Amino acid sequence: MSEPKIVIIGAGPTGLGAAYRLKELGYANFKIFDRHPYIGGLAHSFVDPRGFTWDIGGHVMFSHYAYYDQCFDTLMGKDFTLNNRESWVRMFETWVPYPFQNNIRYLPKQAAYECMSGLIKAQTGKGKIASPAAAKNFGEFIDAVFGEGIAKHFMRPYNFKVWAHPPEMMNKQWIGERVAVLDIDRALKNILLGTDDFGWGPNNQFKFPLKGGTGEFYSRFDRVLGYEPDGGHIVLNERVVGIDVDAKVVRFASGRQERYDVLVSAMPLDVLYRDILKGNVPAELRSTAQQLKHSSGYMVGIGLKSRTPGGGTPDTKSWMYFPEDNCPFYRVTYLSNYSPNMTPDKDNFYSLLCEVSESAYKSTPGNEGKNPDAVVEDCITGLENAGLLEKGERANIVSRWCYYADYSYPTPSVERDEILSQVIPWLEERDIYSRGRFGMWKYEVSNTDHTLMQGVELVNRLLLGEAETTIGMVYQVTDDGRNAAVHERSSHAGSGEKKLGTGGAAQKAGMVVSAETKAQPRIVVRTRPVHANVTGAGDRVEAEIAEEELGVTRIDR
Ligand SMILES: Cc1cc2nc3c(=O)[nH]c(=O)nc-3n(C[C@H](O)[C@H](O)[C@H](O)COP(=O)(O)OP(=O)(O)OC[C@H]3O[C@@H](n4cnc5c(N)ncnc54)[C@H](O)[C@@H]3O)c2cc1C
Repeated sequence: MSEPKIVIIGAGPTGLGAAYRLKELGYANFKIFDRHPYIGGLAHSFVDPRGFTWDIGGHVMFSHYAYYDQCFDTLMGKDFTLNNRESWVRMFETWVPYPFQNNIRYLPKQAAYECMSGLIKAQTGKGKIASPAAAKNFGEFIDAVFGEGIAKHFMRPYNFKVWAHPPEMMNKQWIGERVAVLDIDRALKNILLGTDDFGWGPNNQFKFPLKGGTGEFYSRFDRVLGYEPDGGHIVLNERVVGIDVDAKVVRFASGRQERYDVLVSAMPLDVLYRDILKGNVPAELRSTAQQLKHSSGYMVGIGLKSRTPGGGTPDTKSWMYFPEDNCPFYRVTYLSNYSPNMTPDKDNFYSLLCEVSESAYKSTPGNEGKNPDAVVEDCITGLENAGLLEKGERANIVSRWCYYADYSYPTPSVERDEILSQVIPWLEERDIYSRGRFGMWKYEVSNTDHTLMQGVELVNRLLLGEAETTIGMVYQVTDDGRNAAVHERSSHAGSGEKKLGTGGAAQKAGMVVSAETKAQPRIVVRTRPVHANVTGAGDRVEAEIAEEELGVTRIDR
């Protein structure tokens, strides 16, 4: 039996994960296309003309999966550094250790009082919102869990800077149960006894490629997959401009056409529906997909000719959060601390990577990527205001780098899951599988490990009949035979807890499942989506803290 043709759009972690797994299973009839002249997608790294290496925003690798770790080991061997996580929050002209809520004692007394008072009211049901369960959105959730003080001083301003959307527009499901309860006793103890409560330590380390930045790992997938002119699977510089859903043909800007039996897409789901899908596509679905919200981001790299800020003692920080409005960025990564090879010479240079968000609800002078220099200038002033650069240090800046990501964060908006439950099944009925950070639009499972595994798990579903677990979707066949889907935010998804269990879901639901035969791999092209009722993500307990964007994390020790 000949293998059905699988076409993968997007050579980011999702597409690479799918392709890697296909190759591993001995499947040959697939191609992976990207519009860029490189692979890695948002996880690619760039070297600027001065020799500084930059990532598209601070990328920290916290793996939730044994498979992902094996993949990293296979491709990277010993070519990585192991770094202690050390993160800080900058406010009131001081550095507060992360997580914020455990270190309120670092704040001025009035602010510390407001935070504690609000926390106690919230946790005893006397706050604005009676309980986290009663919260209708992320904004109310913040009030219910943290109270007015922490909301005012940290959670609201910080999260608006990250997401570029008011928290009332966001759902609360993406947070899961991670911060449902804050330990008042612990917060009080730290204030009254003056104890520090750092969220880092020897158990909290992360790997980083020794050379080439985050992107080095992903660039090595070409060793397994190969490029097209040499008989390999990867095809670069090919931008998809149309997919005929009826004829099952992909068209590229170059004029190339590719027929498919199964299509995997990691391009943004709203763009897919708006510009790319051709043929018999319901207008209602096209407009539903346009309601998905996202933010854009400027990644601003500042390279300095000096060993350390101000030339003083080496600073050991990994990354820092900035809730205040004296700087445009929400986070700055001390990138030169991740590996000695991120600058032209570790003894004479260091580098800082700033992230600035933008959306219809939060404008910047960058004006949708048209004026990145203005954002770079704002960032330099912001670094001065936030105490990271001393005034005289401007003269030490030898590199200014900026990358504008049109699609940076998939916003977990209030209506997101309802939209996904309509637009994803329709595609799957036509053998189009949209996966990945902007393919599935689930921020909570859109880090590199999650997205790579979304690709791997999809292949496991298609070839082996296994249920996908990371995406957290539950398919149900309705009485009238349609394929409805609901998206359940598992308490486990993306949080690093153990997987609830796998296997059997598809079989129990009466699906036809092929046996894995390496010699004769066979794709199971389904007539209807697989029933997956397992929504956990990851099979590894990892570092205690994995959630970066929220800015606070519950730590149980
Ligand atoms: C600011 C920021 C910080 C992050 N921090 C972390 C972190 O700390 N840790 C972590 O693990 N992850 C982090 N991530 C997430 C990580 O980058 C993503 O998980 C990952 O890149 C998503 O992979 P993907 O394949 O789903 O999508 P992408 O990486 O976006 O890849 C999609 C690919 O599709 C291609 N494509 C799109 N349209 C077309 C078209 N029409 N034709 C052909 N090709 C097309 C694109 O060129 C791209 O290569 C961060 C991301 C950002 C933006």
